[in-house]
Amino acid sequence: MTFPASKLRLGVLSLVVSAVLVAIKFYAYMLTASQAVLTDALESIINVFTSGFALYSLYLSGLPKDENHPYGHGKVEYLSVGFEGALILIAGLYIFYSATLAFLEPHAVARPDLGIALLSITALVNLAVGFLLIRSGRQLKSVALVGDGQHLYLDAVSTLVSCVALLLVAATGNALFDAGAALLLGGFIVVNGLRMVRRSVGGLMDESDVVVVREVIGELQQFRRPAWIDVHNLRVLRYGANLHIDCHMTMPYYFSLDEIHNELNDIEALIRERFDVEVEMFVHADPCTFTSCSHCHMPECPVRHHPFSKEIGWTLTNAVKNERHRLVAE
Ligand SMILES: [Zn+2]
Ligand SMILES: [Zn+2]
Ligand SMILES: [Zn+2]
Ligand SMILES: [Zn+2]
Repeated sequence: MTFPASKLRLGVLSLVVSAVLVAIKFYAYMLTASQAVLTDALESIINVFTSGFALYSLYLSGLPKDENHPYGHGKVEYLSVGFEGALILIAGLYIFYSATLAFLEPHAVARPDLGIALLSITALVNLAVGFLLIRSGRQLKSVALVGDGQHLYLDAVSTLVSCVALLLVAATGNALFDAGAALLLGGFIVVNGLRMVRRSVGGLMDESDVVVVREVIGELQQFRRPAWIDVHNLRVLRYGANLHIDCHMTMPYYFSLDEIHNELNDIEALIRERFDVEVEMFVHADPCTFTSCSHCHMPECPVRHHPFSKEIGWTLTNAVKNERHRLVAE
């Protein structure tokens, strides 16, 4: 992956806009002393830090493989998500704490009219920039930019909640609406942070991506050839956007190295074509034994010991295990 200047420019734009909006939101908090506005401002300040770090990790993960990072640099993206998640979690817990205090002992909200005006401006800017990021992110096929844009949309929604809270406070004079909105937003932020940390840990621990594993097995099953007797020990690792896939394939033991090499090349090409992202695939060849004969399709096999009985379909269960396939009867 290269790092086009337009992607970088859009990333920087979102960073600068977020920084300006944070300043406006903190100004609004100073005017209103509203818990909901504080919540909104805190969430935005995290956005500034995290989009900065995300920009850096986007740059790192796009670096080509080199001799000291033979699998590429894609995994740094999980670190960025984890960092962002941890920050969001801490902010969410703080907001929860401070909103609970405000709930128990509500203090007055000043100048809700000014607060609403300032917040509305930030929401409009967020919507406009978010729209721009999502549209160009789709054109540039950048998951990170689209994600950034969706985040800005979400920000606008939480700003809307703050505005409604200020409106209710202005209409009723009851500051509990303010603390209630802050609690609601705080809960939302905590859940969001937990989800991001969870995703980051899954990626760093090489949690298997069952959807991709199923796709690989389905593709092999659909185009399987007689010489591909059984596939086992199939593993998929995701490195940022790229995939590393390896598996064992049992093949006729009397094939020449040349024949095996051709079959393996075809398997690798088949799987590589299936995915849009870069795929690195290694297949290890196992020589067949006579326990395979009863489910082996090889026509005119010169060494067949048992007649063909029936095919064993390749599934998530038998293709992932590190064990050759056998018919139960044997
Ligand atoms: Zn490197
Ligand atoms: Zn094996
Ligand atoms: Zn080769
Ligand atoms: Zn055979």
